[in-house]
This record gives sequence, C-alpha cells and structure tokens, in this order.
Amino acid sequence: MRALYDRAAALARLYGYRYVETPGFEATDLFARTSGETSDVVTKEMYTFEDRRRRSLTLRPEGTAPVMRAYLAEMQEQPSPFKAYYLTRMYRYARPQEGRYREHRQFGVEVFGAEDPGADAEVIAVGDAYLRGLGLTQIELQLNSIGDEVCRPAYREELLAFLRANRDRMTDEHRDHLEDNPLRVLDCKDEACRAVAKEAPKIIDRLCDPCRSHFDGVQAGLKDAGLSWVLEPTLVRGLDYYTRTAFEFVSPGLSPQQATLFGGGRYDGLAEVLGGPHVPGVGFGMGLERVLMAIAQEGLGVPEEPGLTVFVVGVGDAGRARALDLARELRAAGVAADTAFGDRPLKAQLRMADRAGARYAAIVGDRELEGGSVTLRRLADGEQEDVSADALTTRLGGEGHAG
Ligand SMILES: [Zn+2]
Ligand SMILES: [Zn+2]
Repeated sequence: MRALYDRAAALARLYGYRYVETPGFEATDLFARTSGETSDVVTKEMYTFEDRRRRSLTLRPEGTAPVMRAYLAEMQEQPSPFKAYYLTRMYRYARPQEGRYREHRQFGVEVFGAEDPGADAEVIAVGDAYLRGLGLTQIELQLNSIGDEVCRPAYREELLAFLRANRDRMTDEHRDHLEDNPLRVLDCKDEACRAVAKEAPKIIDRLCDPCRSHFDGVQAGLKDAGLSWVLEPTLVRGLDYYTRTAFEFVSPGLSPQQATLFGGGRYDGLAEVLGGPHVPGVGFGMGLERVLMAIAQEGLGVPEEPGLTVFVVGVGDAGRARALDLARELRAAGVAADTAFGDRPLKAQLRMADRAGARYAAIVGDRELEGGSVTLRRLADGEQEDVSADALTTRLGGEGHAG
C-alpha cells in the first residue's frame, strides 16, 4: 500500500497537484447534502454517530465533498485552478465482498476553478497513467456526458416517458420507484434494467450547444494525450450537481460488480450545494484495494517498497562496533542500511540480511578489521569482493535506492 501511495503522490506532483488532507470525520450534513438524502451512501452506507454534545458526525465516505468544504472555508485565496490530490481512508458500511472493504483507501484528484475541457482530459490522463504505470493493460475508459441544468431536464422527461412505457420489463425496485431518479435506472446492474437502458434515449444526442462543445473538447484532449475510449451512454451519476463529463475505468476481466476500477467526472454545481459561489470542478476517486485486485487479475506483481541496499554484518565485539559505525555512515550518505541489534552469529545475521530484502551484506570480522576492508556479498548470487571500508559508501551510493 505504501508503494501504491508513493507512486500516486509522485504522479500527482508530476502534474502539478498538491497534497490535501481532510479530517477523518465531518458533520453528517456535509455528506447528506452532497451525496443525496436518498442515495445508498446516505441511507445504508455511512458510519454515523453522535459525539458527546449530540452532534451528528460521519466517518468520511468519499473525498470530494470534504475537499470542497475545506477549499470554501480556507483556501479560496489559492491560485486558480486549485489542483489537489489525496491519499486517504474512506469508510462505507457496505456488504463485505471481495474488493469492497468497510475501511478502504483511495487516491483522488480534484481540480477546482477550471471550466475548460482540458481539465477533464487531464484528470482522466492522470488516472490512466497511474493504472498503466502499475503495468495494467486490460483497462477500458468509458466516457459519457450527462449534460447540465440547461439540457438535462428535458432529457429527464423524455427518459421518464420511455421508462414508464417499459416499466413492465423491470423486475427490481426500479419498477415502482423510477420516478425518484430515472437516471439511476441507466446505470443499474440488474439484467432487466440493463436491457431497458440499452434502448433508452441517449443524453449524448440531446446535449445543448455548450455541453456539446465541451464534450468535443474533452475528446480532443484525450486524443491529444494518446488515450482511447468508448462512449457509454448508460454511464450517469445520479445527483443534480454532477454535470457534463462522466467517466469510468473498467477492467473487462473482472466480474460486472467489480469491473469498475474507478470513476469520476465533473461537478460544477457542488460548491453551490455547500453554500459557496460557482466553482466548477472535476476529479476522480480511485479505490486502491480494487486496483490491487486488478493487478492480481492480470497476474502482475504488487509493487514493493524500495528495499534495503545493504545489511552490515559485524562479527565479534569490535566487528559489531564497526558495523554500527558503517551503518551510520551509509545512512548519512543516503544509502538504506541496517544492522543487527546485539550479538548474533554470522549465519543468523546473513539470514536477517536475506529477510530484510537487502541487496548486499557487508561483513566485518577480524580479518576485515585488520585490513581496513569489508567483504561485500551480493545476496542474489553470493558473489563477493573485498572493498576498502572507506570506499564502501561511495561504492554503494551508486547503487541507487530503487528496490
Ligand atoms: Zn434496476
Ligand atoms: Zn447542456
């Protein structure tokens, strides 16, 4: 997980995003307002509790609303656009299943203050670069535009009329409750709903001119960045503050319930829901446990934290004292080095070196002390060389710090 975090942070910085951290819990109202009072998140999945003064608080179930709240409260003077990333834990009381954890980790990015379709394309490119950087290749980018407050209301009516006419074909709760949120039927995973959704009118054909040209701009930006995508008209997000771009990265190798690696999109109306000014925004939140599943599914290795460069082995009292000195020198020079605590036999120390994942063991015994040298053993193949103790740091400094 540390390696996943490190890669995410490095990538985000590469694109000019800055780290943002928000509290682990917030006023329940923040999530109730932004996730929708009737949404699954609010009605079934939040960890909500009262504090000692009977205020209702909720463990953070998602990242965008807290970042926007913090931005509106304290960061509006930041240069615009405000580009931020987070790496943090989320809490959802969902039915436990593979790849879904009640406490899970997310890498997310948000861009506030940019209306331009270039921001949407960049956010998508960051997500794509992250997955591909881990070696994943079986990923598909699905894209849609869900319009805005100008073109969506008419579409919604048209969709509702279509769904009413097809109500008999549905078998789940949508049969009786489609009026609440007809768009939800489009991304329902139920087979019957999916069959209906396939034939439903597509919002993409009914966008107003500004939405159309924004969507064209996003696609031009993606093309420019060398990405390919498929248009997915049933990809929607069910709340009014979501606008225009909606996207998902899916792994066709995983089961339909788990296929979505992550999703994101534009939320130009969010700041106003929180009582702020108009702040256009776009971003994504990526569950890292799901990413690990995709890595396993493609038979790839989980990235590891960079290991130890050298384990310094000291034999005898004088050898151990020298080993401790050498370890200090190496660390001061930025070489990852470790050594044993207390007196251990040579073999036991070499086993420790192996278990620590060190690339080298540097052995200091009586013979080496006399000659002012160390025996440097490459643990992968046992190859040994005598290196002058003074030259050890220089010799290993060139090994870099990668695992
Ligand atoms: Zn359904
Ligand atoms: Zn529109």
